[in-house]
Amino acid sequence: MSTSTSAEGSSAPATGQMLLVSGPSGTGKSTICKRLGEDPRVRFSVSATTRTPRPGEENGREYHFVSKERFREMIREGAFIEHAEVYGNMYGTLRAPMEDAIAAGDVYLVEIDVQGALQLMALDVPGLYVFIAPPDFETLRRRLAGRGTETPEVLERRLRKAEDEYRERVKYDHVIVNDDLDRAVAELRSITGLERTP
Ligand code: ADP
Ligand code: 5GP
Repeated sequence: MSTSTSAEGSSAPATGQMLLVSGPSGTGKSTICKRLGEDPRVRFSVSATTRTPRPGEENGREYHFVSKERFREMIREGAFIEHAEVYGNMYGTLRAPMEDAIAAGDVYLVEIDVQGALQLMALDVPGLYVFIAPPDFETLRRRLAGRGTETPEVLERRLRKAEDEYRERVKYDHVIVNDDLDRAVAELRSITGLERTP
């Protein structure tokens, strides 16, 4: 699964690979990936989804927003590497952009929930699989509440799910504890090989 051989990642190529970043909701995946994306060698995977855009979201930037009918058609066409239903909406990782980015020698960054990550592992999709863990569950609760994007009911549901998802961390190549953001980003850059100059 991994092209890296050690926690130091000294043999990991900086480019031409999938970097999968996963973990429970609220652990800081988006925040960390946004920082990593400041490097021009990093290309973001943009998934397709059937959910309606939130205020401020743009088609093609956060997601490709498609109808349920179009999503089903894309499944039939083989457009997805994996797809899943998450909280009542469909989401799918597109195949073609990943193949293009890797061929171009970029790091293809896939930010995905644990269910999706396990699917990619089961499909033997090559890449570096990284689990972002919260320092502890109380901190996770505080951060999720602080983000202010979930109702109290959804927040509780996501926290319960987070405990199950946390157990899956042993299946990943690396676990990064998102305590201090700068440190977590530096660790990810190091294991990906991005800290080396191109
Ligand atoms: P995810 O994408 O995993 O659901 P987010 O990136 O949205 O998580 O982070 C959840 C919340 O926690 C956000 O409000 C974010 O600003 C905050 N956060 C992320 N990383 C840290 C950190 N290292 N320290 C403190 N707050 C953080
Ligand atoms: P949101 O609607 O809040 O943006 O995302 C909801 C959940 O869907 C998140 O846990 C996110 O990681 C997950 N998700 C986003 N894109 C994909 C995808 O392509 N495949 C899978 N399996 N999950 C996804």
